[in-house]
Amino acid sequence: MELTLTEFVLLVVFGTFLTVLCFAVISRMLLARSEARALKRRFICRLCLHAYEDFGRDRITSCPRCGAANERGRDPRRC
Ligand SMILES: [Zn+2]
Repeated sequence: MELTLTEFVLLVVFGTFLTVLCFAVISRMLLARSEARALKRRFICRLCLHAYEDFGRDRITSCPRCGAANERGRDPRRC
């Protein structure tokens, strides 16, 4: 099979476009996953409204500023 110059250039351009598209989709998926993980670690204290991160797996975390117990997965603004 022989390629003409036009076919070769079109093939390279189309291949490059597909490669960039694949990398963009993968990058978006990884970014969304890392943002979701960061949101799970982030807390806002229900008493002093101090924002902090906790990397442990405990259900109850204590605020580093006031020491109040905060429950994982509970949004204090919905009270
Ligand atoms: Zn606090």
